[in-house]
Amino acid sequence: MADRIPRVVVVGGGFAGFYALRYLQKRLTPEQAELVLVNPTDYLLYSPLLPEVATGVIEARHIAVSLRRALPRVRLLLGHVNAVDIGGRSVSVTPVTAAGHAETWRESYDRLVLVPGSVTRQFDIPGVAEHARGLKTLVEAVYIRDHLLHLLDAADAEPDTDEGRARRREMLTVVAVGAGYTGTEFVAQTQRWLRTIESRWSRTGAEDVRWILVDLAEMVLPELGPELGRHALDLLRARGIDVRLGVTVTAADDRSVALTDGTVVATRTLVWGAGVAPSPLVAGLGLPTRRGRLVVDAEMAVPGVPDVWAAGDAAAVPDLAAALPAATPPDTPPTAQHGQRQGTALGRNIAASLGVGTARPYRHKDLGLVADLGGWDAVAKPLGVALTGPPAKVVTRAYHLYALPSMANRVRVAADWLFQSVLPPEGTQLGVVRPEDAQLAAAQGTGLYGVPPS
Ligand SMILES: Cc1cc2nc3c(=O)[nH]c(=O)nc-3n(C[C@H](O)[C@H](O)[C@H](O)COP(=O)(O)OP(=O)(O)OC[C@H]3O[C@@H](n4cnc5c(N)ncnc54)[C@H](O)[C@@H]3O)c2cc1C
Repeated sequence: MADRIPRVVVVGGGFAGFYALRYLQKRLTPEQAELVLVNPTDYLLYSPLLPEVATGVIEARHIAVSLRRALPRVRLLLGHVNAVDIGGRSVSVTPVTAAGHAETWRESYDRLVLVPGSVTRQFDIPGVAEHARGLKTLVEAVYIRDHLLHLLDAADAEPDTDEGRARRREMLTVVAVGAGYTGTEFVAQTQRWLRTIESRWSRTGAEDVRWILVDLAEMVLPELGPELGRHALDLLRARGIDVRLGVTVTAADDRSVALTDGTVVATRTLVWGAGVAPSPLVAGLGLPTRRGRLVVDAEMAVPGVPDVWAAGDAAAVPDLAAALPAATPPDTPPTAQHGQRQGTALGRNIAASLGVGTARPYRHKDLGLVADLGGWDAVAKPLGVALTGPPAKVVTRAYHLYALPSMANRVRVAADWLFQSVLPPEGTQLGVVRPEDAQLAAAQGTGLYGVPPS
């Protein structure tokens, strides 16, 4: 037993898991640690560019960073961890197979890193699980794009009768919930994209599509502060988007969405971007949580549980750099920026537990967020400086190219942006995703744990 090479098992190959393993494979020799990653896909998904996949500006594969290529020293197991046996120091893995089901097995660990990220927050609203579509996976982004194009085709073919016009209106109405970056970028970019391809239909133009963006909060893009939030709100409204703040959904079915302002909107498209909840794996661990996220200390170790760490969207990591005079620091917000840096810091702390280097608490001052609103419109706050319009757009794209963790993906995304400016926009349906595969539970794998995301 003493001679066995310690096994580090990482659960989740997103930002935090990827950067932790990248650090570990660089710093530790194969004799110092065996590195194992459990993830349902063989890629890291660069989710900040998902809205651009939904509009066909960026090809889906170009924001998928190959884990096998970037992490050659890591044994990648394609599957989900659906339970952790803390006492027995093992995780239970359900593999992803072509047949869709297979035997679950146990993988033992000497060090465990829990970084399964988050899922779309659904709340307990009737009809949302069945009829809303998220924008957190490639499957969902590709589906939404096809779905919108399909509805434009179907609406264009409707007869000019009272019933036909009613159905047409229903098909050409899009309701998006959540005015954070997911909902706002989706609505802003998609509305802009449809304007660039509207001439393809004989009876239907982009102005026939009705966009409704609702949020219970009183602000758009709260992550970027009131000044840029106000700018984005004015811009959306000037473009004709019906932004309803202080409003949310009470029920949804396949033909309508009921809102708390008393209106019932006839629609076949409900896009759900109402925030995120930690992976349901966390709730099943029986360990302390804060606002659903797994409690960790400043070094991202789980208190009282030897050799287990957590970070990213799934963990409540104290934000030591937050400029608040609070006795207890707030938790770091769920962003890719924190996920990436926490991953590297985790790698360092795990290496230290194996005798290489020294552990340190996580401390990172936010570099600011960016939001692309389509065309030359964007808002960005790099290092606290508020930018709008073309300067913000340039910063937004430069930031994404810098943050994409693979040169090959960077070049492909940059080429997509270049082609977008010189070639006709993409607007064909692929038809590769079945509607049932794009439902929230299927696309985000939330049905695996028996704990609904709250
Ligand atoms: C549309 C959209 C736009 C965004 N824009 C921005 C932005 O502009 N800037 C920004 O900073 N952040 C942005 N974010 C947020 C950012 O993507 C997340 O904060 C970040 O991905 C969190 O990193 P993570 O490593 O915790 O989780 P993730 O990157 O989500 O990775 C988690 C990984 O774990 C896997 N997994 C889940 N459950 C299991 C399990 N049980 N077993 C094994 N593997 C599992 C998942 O499949 C995934 O690969 C955006 C998110 C979305 C959805």
